[in-house]
Amino acid sequence: MSANYRIAVGSILTECNQWVARTTELEDFERMEFRRGSEILEGSAGVAGGMLRVLQQRNVEILPLISASACPGGLLSSHCYRHLREELMEALKRFDAPDAVLLGLHGAASAVDLEDVEGDILEAVREFVGSGVPVVATLDLHAHVTEKMVRCADALVAWETYPHRDSVETGSRGTRLLLDALDGKVKPTMAMAKVPVLTGAVNASTDGETPFADLMRLAKSWEGQDGVLSTSVFLVNPYLDCTEMGSGGLVIADGDRDRAIALAREVATMYWERRYDLVPSMYEPAEAVSEGLRIEGGPVLLVETADTCGGGAAGDSVASLKALLKAQVDELSLVPIVDPEAAAECHQAGPGKEIRLELGHKLDPQWGRPIAVKGVVGTLSDGRFRYSGGIWGAQWGDMGPSAMLQIGRVQVLIASHPTYEWADEQFRSMKMNTSAAKFIVVKNPMNYRNTYLETAKKAFILDTPGPTPAILDHVQFQRLKRPYFPADKDIPNLTPTILSH
Ligand SMILES: [Zn+2]
Repeated sequence: MSANYRIAVGSILTECNQWVARTTELEDFERMEFRRGSEILEGSAGVAGGMLRVLQQRNVEILPLISASACPGGLLSSHCYRHLREELMEALKRFDAPDAVLLGLHGAASAVDLEDVEGDILEAVREFVGSGVPVVATLDLHAHVTEKMVRCADALVAWETYPHRDSVETGSRGTRLLLDALDGKVKPTMAMAKVPVLTGAVNASTDGETPFADLMRLAKSWEGQDGVLSTSVFLVNPYLDCTEMGSGGLVIADGDRDRAIALAREVATMYWERRYDLVPSMYEPAEAVSEGLRIEGGPVLLVETADTCGGGAAGDSVASLKALLKAQVDELSLVPIVDPEAAAECHQAGPGKEIRLELGHKLDPQWGRPIAVKGVVGTLSDGRFRYSGGIWGAQWGDMGPSAMLQIGRVQVLIASHPTYEWADEQFRSMKMNTSAAKFIVVKNPMNYRNTYLETAKKAFILDTPGPTPAILDHVQFQRLKRPYFPADKDIPNLTPTILSH
C-alpha cells in the first residue's frame, strides 16, 4: 500500500546566551547529538522521537532530515549556523515535494550575525515547500517567538512542563495536529500575544503554586474546548538581546483568528499582572552558607543560577566554593565547576595525589577570579553519563575528562565541558554522594527540584555574577529597547503585541 503522506522530519535544537564569551560551534552539536538521514529513525527519545512514534502508527512515509542538538551556550557562530541550515535544507531538497514538514526547534537560538535563527529556518523551509504545504514546529517554552516564526509556520506547539519532562509528548502533540490539518479535519489559525516582561525562571515551575503554573493552567483549560487546538505559554529566555522580546501566550484555534487573538491576549495580560510574582528573593553566598549551617541536617542547596550551563553559562564560577571554604565548612559539600585545565592537571597527577590548582573562571573570565586551592585527587572519569530524563532523557551527556578534587570536606566535580543539568547524573557518575551531603551547589534555576524537591532542607537562590542571573535588573540590553519590565516597573497604556497567522 502506498503511503498517504510523505512527511519530512528534522530538528535543530539549542538555546543561546548573549552574555557568554564563547560561541557555540559544530563540535558542540557533534558532541551532544548530530544525526543525519536514517539515523534519526533509530531514536525514540526527545522531540523527534515523539514525532516518530505518531508517524510510525500511520501510513506515512517519513523523510528524515537531520537531528542536531547541543547543550545551551553562546551565540551560534556564523559558520556553525550556516552549516546547520545548509545540511537541513539540502536534506529537505533531496525529497521531491513533501506533503508536510515537522521540525523540532527550540525558539531561543541566535547566531552572532542573525538574531532570529528559528525564524530564518522556518522561512527557508517555507520558501522551499511553498504556501500550501503545512509546516509545524515544536518549541521550548522559553522560546523567543518572533513575527517571522509565526508567519512562516502553520502551527507552533511548545513544551508544557518546566522542568521540561514532555519533549516526547510535545513532539507527538505537534505531529497529531499536523496530521489533522493534512486530513482536512482542522484549519490551524495561530495568534501569539506578548508583553515585555523579562524574568529568570526560578519562580516559573509549572508544578505547584507559581505564577507561571497558574498561567499554564489557564491556557491549558481552553485546549480542546470550542475549537481551540493548542495553547502554549512562553517565558522568554531573557539571556538574549533581541528586539521585540517578550513573554506571553500562543493560541491555535480551528479557523477562528479572532478567538485565537482574544485568548492569547488574555494570557499576555495576566502575565503582565503577575510580573512581580516571577521575581525571586536572593541571598549572598556567605549569608546562605551561614544560614545553612544553622539548619539541622542536609542537603542545603546553594542555587548558583547565574552560572547555569543549561542557560548557556560556562559553569566555571567559584562563588559558592569560595563561600564554603571561607566558612570552613567541615561537613561533606559538593560543588560542580567546569575547568578543562584543572581537570587535565588532576588526570596528570592521578588519584590520591595532593595538588595545588587555580580553579574556575577560565572559560568565561568576565564574571570572577579563579581561586587557589590545594586538594587531593579522587575519582577520575571520561565524563560520560546517561541522562535519566528531560529533553535528552536516555541520551548520553559528555563532561569530557573529569575529576573529583577533595578540599577538606568539600568535593569539587571538575569537568572539561559544560553540560545541561537535569537531575544529579553528573555527581552520580563521579560517585559523589548527594544523599550524605550538607551543602550541594546546583547550577540551574529549576531542575534541582527533579532530585532534591523532597529531601532538601532549604534552597537558597544566590545573587552571584554570571550570564544567567535570576533577576534582570543589572543586564544592559542593546537591541531590546525600553520600556520593558524590570527596567520599567509600570508601562502606562500597555497593550500586548499580537502576531498572527
Ligand atoms: Zn527551556
